[in-house]
Amino acid sequence: MKNEMRLEILSISENEAFARAVAGAFAAQLNPTLEELADIKMAVSEAVTNAIIHGYECDGKRMVEIHGVIRGSVVAFEVIDQGCGIDDVDQAREPFYTSKPDLERSGMGFTVMETFMDKVEVTSGKDKGTKVFMLK
Ligand code: ATP
Ligand code: MG
Repeated sequence: MKNEMRLEILSISENEAFARAVAGAFAAQLNPTLEELADIKMAVSEAVTNAIIHGYECDGKRMVEIHGVIRGSVVAFEVIDQGCGIDDVDQAREPFYTSKPDLERSGMGFTVMETFMDKVEVTSGKDKGTKVFMLK
């Protein structure tokens, strides 16, 4: 099977659930197990939440882009923001690392993505925005 989708959403927390539902509906075309579907929805929603709260620092006037691709039995998503970017990606991906401990973040978003997806690639740089690619 081959399919592709693009979605742009305003960077407000209300859209986290929307993005999660869209990712789930798109991936459902591959007839995944309920567990696989839950994993994909969780991973995409972590990346979208990061774009909103970190990338755009909760400036709810920016847009987050989600790009989904199905090739054969594999589904991949890219979550893209044009926000502040990540200085040190290796550090950001470490379990429990968070730049916002005051907001009660646990620093587990990237770890969740890595655990639930088969591959996660992060492309980012200070003030260059962030692109998270993930595949299952
Ligand atoms: P949690 O996801 O558990 O609520 P968290 O968001 O801080 O906490 P991660 O999702 O693992 O943890 O992200 C780690 C750190 O990477 C963040 O604290 C932030 O500094 C940085 N980061 C992640 N995504 C982005 C992004 N899109 N733009 C800028 N910085 C980001
Ligand atoms: Mg996070």
